[in-house]
Amino acid sequence: MDYLPLFFDVKNKPCLIVGGGSIATRKARLLAKAEAVIIVVAPKIEDELQRLVQQSGGACFFEGYQQRFIESKVLVISATDNRQLNEQVSKDCQQRNLPVNVVDSPDLCSVITPAIVDRSPLIIGISSGGEAPVLARRIRSHLDATLPAAYGQLAQLASRFRNKVKQAFSDGEQRRRFWESVINGDIAEQVFSGNTGKAEQLLEERISHSQCDTSGEVYLVGAGPGDPDLLTFKALRLMQQAEVVLYDRLVSEPILEMVRRDAERIYVGKKRSEHSMAQQDINQLLLTLAQQGKRVLRLKGGDPFIFGRGGEEIDLLAENNIRFQVVPGITAASGCAAYAGIPLTHRDHSQSVRFITGHLKDGDVNFNWQEFVDSRQTLVFYMGLKGLEQICTKLIQYGKSADTPAALVERGTLPQQVVHSGTLASLPALIATREVHAPTLLIIGDVVKLQAKLSWYKSDQSSS
Ligand code: SAH
Repeated sequence: MDYLPLFFDVKNKPCLIVGGGSIATRKARLLAKAEAVIIVVAPKIEDELQRLVQQSGGACFFEGYQQRFIESKVLVISATDNRQLNEQVSKDCQQRNLPVNVVDSPDLCSVITPAIVDRSPLIIGISSGGEAPVLARRIRSHLDATLPAAYGQLAQLASRFRNKVKQAFSDGEQRRRFWESVINGDIAEQVFSGNTGKAEQLLEERISHSQCDTSGEVYLVGAGPGDPDLLTFKALRLMQQAEVVLYDRLVSEPILEMVRRDAERIYVGKKRSEHSMAQQDINQLLLTLAQQGKRVLRLKGGDPFIFGRGGEEIDLLAENNIRFQVVPGITAASGCAAYAGIPLTHRDHSQSVRFITGHLKDGDVNFNWQEFVDSRQTLVFYMGLKGLEQICTKLIQYGKSADTPAALVERGTLPQQVVHSGTLASLPALIATREVHAPTLLIIGDVVKLQAKLSWYKSDQSSS
């Protein structure tokens, strides 16, 4: 380790910045956040920097640097583009063991500033020791995007209740377990959902009963159409939190890999006409596991409320007062359309879009077909492969033009995605000649013809 990571308390303490330009201003913003008293010395000082200095209770000196300026400071930052001057500042400080940072010159620094993810009071600093700042910034962006903004609120909540918890749990081990149950349980979830008041109330209750949260919870999570990059942050967080996972066939392997390593995995089906577990057994299993105090993830392809039977699965939980959350996912229609280059609506071609189940009941697809004939709409059939021929024939029979463009998107958003495109008249015959793998989505409407122009994803595999 080349550097010792430390967090420096500069609140109300004098810090010197040498330089008055934009980099100096950036450093001053950081010092201002940490409530330092900022002193700047430079012949010219930017307006914003002057304002920051004033707000901090510091002072601006419109002149050249001299050694006396570093006296009685706790930290010095040199942010000038004059190498000689930077060297001088560095030397002066290091002679007195005064921490000094010279922007972009690690060799002149005794302290360096990391890239920061700020969820105050929680702060994450990432440093490459000045060797690869772009990489450090990239990691920072990644963490910044994946850590819920509300972690700050959660840490603030913990700070407000710290003493109370200390009094209620004198034993250190008990206290640790209590905080773990807060951070991994419903109280944290309330904070993440923006209900800090409710979280405080729960925390008060638990403290007064000196109890940890041992009740179970179910997360009904949409995993999107297949590409793991299409997961939501919330889905990912809950995937890494749950102890048991019930998943079905539509959940892709790379997504499953992102579930907590030690979580128990239960496969619950379902393939068309080959249900591994009956729906009511799934509902019951979710209930039983939650009643055992487990945090249960029900991971579903796409969005749980679009042809996902999500409503049925939470019904029994609601009846039994089990806590649950529903996390939306990108539904197959959005995912497939985007990756195939087919806008579902378009000012010139389609003013509405319908999501329809093409699932055959007793070998038949029964609809009010008349409703689907209007040409200024896009029809999206889920589970439509088996009924494809019937769907196309019926639409033509009820008056939709046989030339209406139609596409079957196979394994949409996955690396194996293939788009089979044709018309209502030609698509069934085309599909009959090809080996097609589930899942597939049928998109019908004028927007499909835009695919030739707008397709960007694996276009080499597309067929027409
Ligand atoms: N809840 C899911 C849909 C479940 S129904 C969602 O919101 O997407 C299952 C049907 O979804 C499949 O038969 C297929 O028509 C469609 N589907 C799901 N993922 C798909 C994918 N990656 N590519 C094509 N179709 C998909």
